[in-house]
Amino acid sequence: MIRTQYPFFYKRYAYDLATGMLHDLTNEKSDCKIDELDEENIEMYSSLNETSLMLDHPTYKKCPHCMSE
Ligand SMILES: [Zn+2]
Repeated sequence: MIRTQYPFFYKRYAYDLATGMLHDLTNEKSDCKIDELDEENIEMYSSLNETSLMLDHPTYKKCPHCMSE
């Protein structure tokens, strides 16, 4: 579920700094526990093509719940 408020601001992908896990909010599952993330640890990205994501977090993991094919 896309969230409008801080720290999400309508963006699709939520990166959790605490776990190194990237979530797709448009395919969010209850197991993602997005609402339990510490907002201080969340970085948001509009798309997976943002080079900043790879530069900032080259070892990011895709969440098995919302980003498995
Ligand atoms: Zn997830």
